[in-house]
Amino acid sequence: MKTASRGAWRFPIIPYGSGGILYGGCPFCGRPSESGAGAFQTACLDRARLQPTMPQRFSPKAPMKLIILDRDGVINQDRDDFVKSADEWVPLEGSMDAIAFLTQAGYTIAVATNQSGIGRGFFTMQQLNEMHAKMHKLVRQAGGEIDGIWFCPHTAAAECNCRKPKSGMVEDILARFNAKAADTYMAGDSLRDVQAAAGAGCRPVLVLSGKGRKTLAESSGELPPGTQVFDNLAAFAQYLMKQERQNAEDGHAACA
Ligand SMILES: [Mg+2]
Ligand SMILES: [Zn+2]
Repeated sequence: MKTASRGAWRFPIIPYGSGGILYGGCPFCGRPSESGAGAFQTACLDRARLQPTMPQRFSPKAPMKLIILDRDGVINQDRDDFVKSADEWVPLEGSMDAIAFLTQAGYTIAVATNQSGIGRGFFTMQQLNEMHAKMHKLVRQAGGEIDGIWFCPHTAAAECNCRKPKSGMVEDILARFNAKAADTYMAGDSLRDVQAAAGAGCRPVLVLSGKGRKTLAESSGELPPGTQVFDNLAAFAQYLMKQERQNAEDGHAACA
């Protein structure tokens, strides 16, 4: 079977009609296949064919671990006059490493960002693409991967469903990655980020970088129930790493 590798991910390219000859069990679930060693189980093949282009964790027993991040004020420095070019896109201290830690720990990272500067004519799609090329490059240099970027180009006047605090982008990301909302964290520095997260059923996280301190000072009473607060993305990533280690130790303890 051929595999394509993309950063930390390996996902199978389904060998249509080839029988997928390999050694051992089904490449998806690991159990013996009804059609011979190394072949996909019919159920797994059907599942894979439904989403042939999605990155699929090689172990189906591990649920998709997805984290959704706001961009400005979480990953990069925000500006009152909009981040308008790649030059103005400057990573926050520790954020590239934080994404790398999360990638290495098996998380899929998606970005959901309001970019009304497009709708207002402050910058172009070309410039937005250049910012994101820079973001991808710096994240990869740190050893991480951003698996998808969703942005809303509209102004409030468009009354679209994607502009946060609406949950359209978040719901689309969950669907595209086949992730469970209740297992998915979404981190942002504004009230509308945590509102969009909660609206989609995700776990809201407020980081105090960017506008975060202002958000906490002015809107603490409006934060959705269960919102977790961290100093910045690095602190949030460290918290998750600690949780992972704790879960692993609990797992081992349960075996003993
Ligand atoms: Mg923000
Ligand atoms: Zn929109």
